[in-house]
Amino acid sequence: MPSHPATTHRPLDWIDAALAALDEQGLRRRRPERAGPQGARAVIDGRKLVNFGSNDYLGLAGDPRLAEAVREAAAREGWGSGASPLLGGLGESHRRLEARLAEFEGTEAALVFPSGFAANCGTVAALVGPGDVVCCDRKNHASLLDGCRLSRADFRVYPHNDFARLDRMLARPSEHGRRLIGTDGLFSMDGDLAPLVELVEVAERHGAMLLVDEAHATGVFGPGGRGVAEHLGVEGRVPVRIGTLSKALGCAGGFVAGSRRLIEWLLNRARPYLFSTAMPSAAAAAALTALQIVEAEPDRRNGLLARAAGLRERLAAQGWDTGGSASQIIPVIVGRPERAVELSRQLRNRGLYVPAIRPPTVPEGEACLRVSLTSAHTPEMIERLVTALEESASG
Ligand code: PMP
Repeated sequence: MPSHPATTHRPLDWIDAALAALDEQGLRRRRPERAGPQGARAVIDGRKLVNFGSNDYLGLAGDPRLAEAVREAAAREGWGSGASPLLGGLGESHRRLEARLAEFEGTEAALVFPSGFAANCGTVAALVGPGDVVCCDRKNHASLLDGCRLSRADFRVYPHNDFARLDRMLARPSEHGRRLIGTDGLFSMDGDLAPLVELVEVAERHGAMLLVDEAHATGVFGPGGRGVAEHLGVEGRVPVRIGTLSKALGCAGGFVAGSRRLIEWLLNRARPYLFSTAMPSAAAAAALTALQIVEAEPDRRNGLLARAAGLRERLAAQGWDTGGSASQIIPVIVGRPERAVELSRQLRNRGLYVPAIRPPTVPEGEACLRVSLTSAHTPEMIERLVTALEESASG
């Protein structure tokens, strides 16, 4: 029977009520519309704003050298990849990028995924399955948590950064096979670091694999910009290291760095790798250029964390709660989603873009403004933010 448009829509009618419920709780989302490049100043919803909302920590997303790398590579290799990496989609720039990432990370090999989300989700589900155990920090990124669910392993969540509890979880007698611990290195909304020294010890004591997602730390933390594991001196003891090309490197895509056998297993078994078209080769070329810039221009990284510490101190002096932040990600925790949205609106009226972060991105009661500091923010921009927040605090 031919379907009538009115009846075709009926099964989705529930969505109207569900969206109305989100509205009522102050949780309905809309997407700000950016025009022009990402950067410390960006045109958002038609207004030029100082932008504290991006993960472009080293100011590379809008760098013309990346755009030029894309142009050159697209002229040489074309744009579309046309197939999964296993079926001819793997181009010259992909292969060079993987070799370069392994060199950067000091590992035997690396594998590039279409996104960081795919890298996390696919890697977890390839490493554990039914009959295995996977333990995750409660505040891990959604992509790690979803990977755990997808894996169908026995999924256990430990309280944020509570390595003692994790230790007890793994000590429970069980007949489980493989064990995996997954954690963010730098937590994306709280801006605090995972206690990797202790987590490495717990993993080693229980013979568990340790996976660290360095998405927000790559390019920012550690003397070589390799992340929190490098910063804390334990990178050689983290067998599964994940990063994104999409944040400090200003590009798109995710990667896993580790031993040759790990990478060989993932390219055989990580489903988002096997069943997704390779990212455009030219995007890999841009990431190659970004890595070169990160190494050649350490000044982008140097000083960013000190400036962030200075900003945190000033916000704390005004009475704001910045939680456990120890990085360029500084939450200003206000609790109720409506309050976060209202503050964000006030700041926008003063020419500053600082997004409100609400559940489910953060737990209930922890709605915040997420200030993301980048190397492209000038002292004057930071001053404007401090002044605006001071007036909001008293107003
Ligand atoms: N891990 C963390 C901690 C993240 O915050 C994000 C993205 N916000 C990802 C992984 C996913 O990376 P991508 O954006 O490259 O998919």
